[in-house]
Amino acid sequence: MIPDKDAQIISRETQQQQDTLALLRSNGLGELVEACAHELNLVSFEERSEIPIPLSLIPQSETELDLGSDVSDTCRELLNIMEEPQHAFEYPFFIGGFTSSQNILSLESLALLYPEGTTFHTNSTLPDKDLLGKAVSDNVEKGGNVHVLGHTHPEPSNETKEESVAAKLSAETKTKYGIRDVGLNISLNDIYQLVSFRSTLEERHDFSLTVMICVLMFNGEIHFIYIENDKLLRITKEISSD
Ligand SMILES: [Zn+2]
Repeated sequence: MIPDKDAQIISRETQQQQDTLALLRSNGLGELVEACAHELNLVSFEERSEIPIPLSLIPQSETELDLGSDVSDTCRELLNIMEEPQHAFEYPFFIGGFTSSQNILSLESLALLYPEGTTFHTNSTLPDKDLLGKAVSDNVEKGGNVHVLGHTHPEPSNETKEESVAAKLSAETKTKYGIRDVGLNISLNDIYQLVSFRSTLEERHDFSLTVMICVLMFNGEIHFIYIENDKLLRITKEISSD
């Protein structure tokens, strides 16, 4: 029985990788992915997962989004923590909320997704599965229909910068596609996270949900990315420092 189970897990992951690449292509981002992959000889999905996707290439949504004070306060705390070089990590979190009567997305609760003892990484700290499961069911129980899986992008150290895909790309490619400095783009892997989080929630909850990822960047920008009718959309807000 175990080999069957493994085969199923592998095929699900492969499917989501293919879905991610198809989504990028149908949103006009295929050329960017191919150009970066070609320039740096990135072959496998894992190698390509760090390819930067500039936010300017994801259209802005007309939907309004309201951040509750709990959410913005915790985001501000995370920004303060990340400012210290020894704590400049990717921190995973969950934001829950609901669609209000005027079709505004109200995001009101934030749960951190790293238990004590977590080993943090600068660009790949996975959310704790149990904490994520609990955050989702708490949100559902409260009547929430907006589920956001978020993480931080800290300011990279010089070392991290040099090793990153964004830094290795030619100035020409960066200018052509509007790729910003390391940490200020989203990555192909972030879109993969959106695709897989969305498919997991759709399998488990049979009602209409808004599923998003969000990235809190060290400069205070917070970007919410979601899919509507196969189109990638973005809502950008700012967390003020006071
Ligand atoms: Zn990211």
